Amino acid sequence: MLKLFQRIACCNNKPKRFRLRQNTSGGGFDQMHILIVGAGLSGAVIGRALAQAGHHITIQEARTHVAGNCHTERCADTGIMVHAYGPHIFHTDDAEVWEYVNSFARFHSFRNRVKTTVNDLVYALPINLHTINQFFGRRFRPDEARRFIAEEQADQSITDPQNFEEQALHMVGPALYEAFFKGYTEKQWGRAPADLPAAILKRLPLRFNYDDNYYAHRFQGLPEDGYTAMVAAILDHPGIDLHLNSPFSPEQAARADHLFWSGPLDAYFGQRHGPLGYRTLDFERFTATGDWQGCAVMNYGDPELPYTRITEHKHFSPWENHAQTVCYREYARACGPGDIPYYPIRLAREKELLSQYEALAAREAGVTFIGRLGTYRYIDMDVTIREALDSAAAFLTATQARHRRQI
Ligand SMILES: Cc1cc2nc3c(=O)[nH]c(=O)nc-3n(C[C@H](O)[C@H](O)[C@H](O)COP(=O)(O)OP(=O)(O)OC[C@H]3O[C@@H](n4cnc5c(N)ncnc54)[C@H](O)[C@@H]3O)c2cc1C
Repeated sequence: MLKLFQRIACCNNKPKRFRLRQNTSGGGFDQMHILIVGAGLSGAVIGRALAQAGHHITIQEARTHVAGNCHTERCADTGIMVHAYGPHIFHTDDAEVWEYVNSFARFHSFRNRVKTTVNDLVYALPINLHTINQFFGRRFRPDEARRFIAEEQADQSITDPQNFEEQALHMVGPALYEAFFKGYTEKQWGRAPADLPAAILKRLPLRFNYDDNYYAHRFQGLPEDGYTAMVAAILDHPGIDLHLNSPFSPEQAARADHLFWSGPLDAYFGQRHGPLGYRTLDFERFTATGDWQGCAVMNYGDPELPYTRITEHKHFSPWENHAQTVCYREYARACGPGDIPYYPIRLAREKELLSQYEALAAREAGVTFIGRLGTYRYIDMDVTIREALDSAAAFLTATQARHRRQI
């Protein structure tokens, strides 16, 4: 079989090389053997698309389960569906992605109404009219609240916020900043807000109405049987061989025509420039009877408390009934060797390191780097799926174009 080489554009628009096996008998192309590292959403969605196109897919997954960090499992004692790596709510404006996930799982509509405890009082997040009125003991109407925040709270001396703290002071002023952002952010990122980019806060809404839905997307929901069942359904295709509990080894790549890598970008290159920085999470699990906190997610902004939030998992399945309850107290800290990487830090040092790894990745023939770890970004599930679908489509377009040129 003749191996041909071809350049294509992958999801991050960097040229990639991959090999095609030419079918010498008929002039067409045999199926390619594609290796995918990681059976999270990225690997599963790409694997499915390429298997449906007739390629043979092998997926190596280091963990004992599919779905990556979206993994859900039923607690053996209580029967409650638990979001094992932290709470995951599906939300998107992308109708095609919404249709895609609904073709593999039955979704229930769900609105995430996050609360926060500060100084022994409970408020609604994101900051909205109710939060403002409760916090300041007022009964503002929307325009009054808007004026009050702009004229009496916001720091008008800051015209061009350079960091998270300045952005917060510019947007809501010191009182709301101290209560709702400062402590939580310090715990989450392990850094002073003045050392963090303003962009983190620019993404958070400030509402002058009573809308306390955490997300503003058109489609929001949770899969009835959890994300792991959904990803298992995506992977359920005769063209896909899935190997759990099977970390990638380099000799596997040599046997494949192309590799899609959804593991950590730096790990692929043996961390030769040093590790890319992440925050990791520890979950302290506890159970109780009945309803422990009355909502799915309760944040804790007080700096004295070491945890950032408590998730009560049964509130993610309001269509089920459980006498018991399972909660996770969540602690953030620096990610060390052997820890699960959760949030990429992406400050100046990491960005410099990232550009070095991206340069290596651009020169790596036959490999496409995908997903949150392979591209070192925080990406929501809908974006992950969109990018995986686009990456698979780009790959197929390029292989077909190559095929046409050969005949
Ligand atoms: C705490 C937290 C909460 C989140 N909440 C939401 C939310 O509410 N809504 C939302 O839309 N998104 C949420 N996300 C984002 C969501 O988790 C990601 O979009 C999604 O997990 C990305 O999927 P992925 O396949 O790219 O990565 P992953 O899920 O990380 O999958 C990568 C897989 O690769 C495997 N792997 C890595 N290295 C190797 C190797 N060497 N060999 C074999 N296998 C390997 C890993 O074991 C893993 O299974 C949240 C993320 C975090 C951290």
